[in-house]
Amino acid sequence: KTFEDCGFSTQLLNSIAKQGYEKPTPIQCQALPIVFSGRDIIGMAKTGSGKTAAFVLPMIVHIMDQPDLKKEEGPIGVVCAPTRELAHQIYLETKKFCKSNGIRVSAVYGGMSKLDQFKELKAGCEIVIATPGRLIDMLKMKALNMLRATYLVLDEADRMFDLGFEPQIRSIAGQIRPDRQTLLFSATMPRKIEKLAREILTDPVRVTV
Ligand code: AMP
Repeated sequence: KTFEDCGFSTQLLNSIAKQGYEKPTPIQCQALPIVFSGRDIIGMAKTGSGKTAAFVLPMIVHIMDQPDLKKEEGPIGVVCAPTRELAHQIYLETKKFCKSNGIRVSAVYGGMSKLDQFKELKAGCEIVIATPGRLIDMLKMKALNMLRATYLVLDEADRMFDLGFEPQIRSIAGQIRPDRQTLLFSATMPRKIEKLAREILTDPVRVTV
């Protein structure tokens, strides 16, 4: 299987090639067709598997498919990650593919100035990558709204639970229209994550690598 088979635009294929990604990793091979079909997904995959690109690349396609991209405000893609380090890594991976398509990416996590993040979000973005606590802070400050959000990713869900972010995750999911596409990634699947998945995903497809 190749990235060409996945139906990416020439521009995105060029960015993928520029990163030196020759072919999709196993999680990408499994996840990409499911995510492109619009289904919700539960991915059991660890860091190092290429899981980030498995949700970032379809997120970019999802956003490019929206008409009148700059006419509305608020993120279309929302990614939650447990730690600033992971949020920053996802941000870097996303930026690689957003150099020539005009998609604006914001990263929002603790340890950075709230005022600076507020201003950045106010200026607008199509993708926000955030730790759950700081995203809730920004929503409370009305730095952004979720009216346009249709693609939600919960990365390393088990670690987010271990860090006590369950209420924040539920609150964020509750603020995004229910007909969104939701992607949940987790290295392990304890019962409490299964329960959350049942509540906030719709008829998900499971993939394991
Ligand atoms: P991740 O598991 O998402 O943290 O990715 C691990 C590393 O693999 C990152 O440095 C990615 O940039 C890289 N990577 C992701 N997809 C591919 C691919 N298809 N081919 C080569 N490297 C990749």
